Amino acid sequence: MWHVLGAGSLGTLWATRLFRAGLPVQLILRDQTRLTSYLQSGGLTLIEQAQKQKFPISAQTIGHLQPIERLLLACKAYDAAEAVTQLAPRLVNGAEILLLQNGLGSQDEVARAAPQARCIFASSTEGAFRQADFQVVFAGHGHTWLGDPLDLQPPAWLEDLRQAGIAHDWSLDILSRLWRKLALNCAINPLTVLHDCRNGGLLEYPAQLACLCSELIELLNRCGHSSAAEDLQDDVLQVIQATAANFSSMHQDASQGRRTEIAYLLGYACSAAQRHQLVLPHLQDLHARLLSHLGARGLPSH
Ligand code: NAP
Repeated sequence: MWHVLGAGSLGTLWATRLFRAGLPVQLILRDQTRLTSYLQSGGLTLIEQAQKQKFPISAQTIGHLQPIERLLLACKAYDAAEAVTQLAPRLVNGAEILLLQNGLGSQDEVARAAPQARCIFASSTEGAFRQADFQVVFAGHGHTWLGDPLDLQPPAWLEDLRQAGIAHDWSLDILSRLWRKLALNCAINPLTVLHDCRNGGLLEYPAQLACLCSELIELLNRCGHSSAAEDLQDDVLQVIQATAANFSSMHQDASQGRRTEIAYLLGYACSAAQRHQLVLPHLQDLHARLLSHLGARGLPSH
């Protein structure tokens, strides 16, 4: 049984594809009110190439008592530890939790909240967004890397993902993948918020990008992830060019007054630098400016 917590963008994308492949799926919603609106909607709708398909996946509240052997955690990084703390009594010994959260930091929080479980980290380039409640658009096909820094043995259920058409690979160095993605995010997303521009707009600020990349490379090397530092600046420019017309996820969150995942992205990078007694003035200044920008809009810094 795949228990999927979070009927948002990625939760819907995963739950519908697993269900469509004939695999047993159980959605976990936050409370009775959410469960009632879900039941009224009749299921989760996935919109792919303008085609809508509704899937009547069964659902329960977080307070249900059914034991959980395999949990797909599909909430935001700042909600992950609290959700797992609530679910902890339901997780059997040796349960597996697949963590879809962006950035770093939430994985450790979840591992502390559920010491009886094996945590498998994911880093995905797939894209999805909520068009309406319980209706999600599959906006960008991509790839998902999965891995467990504590146990390099892949789980048997990777076969379920293949069956469900979820493009993936087992990574022997998932932490470096997560760090690389975090570094790309730190170089691009905060600047798009502060300059209020699409990703492509950053091409006007090559000096700022270069300073940030060189500090991020220093940080990755110091944290023992030198493979994640290789050609970082070229990759940043390539991502900016390939996504020039898009607004970054942080820009979208900030401009729509939604909480960002800053604490698990730039915030995590700055704390790691501090832990290693590294002085990275551009990164720290960027963090301070972003915090004050978000604060001025009433958005939390964590
Ligand atoms: P999302 O659309 O906001 O969905 C999060 C879901 O989690 C919401 O449905 C929310 O419930 C649910 N949730 C939170 N706390 C809960 C709880 N205690 N019990 C039950 N449900 C709970 O977020 P998302 O875009 O899927 O992002 C999830 C993670 O994936 C983030 O870390 C994001 O950065 C990462 N990611 C997303 C994408 C993408 O394209 N969307 C791509 C790569 C990575 P409510 O609906 O009740 O609020």
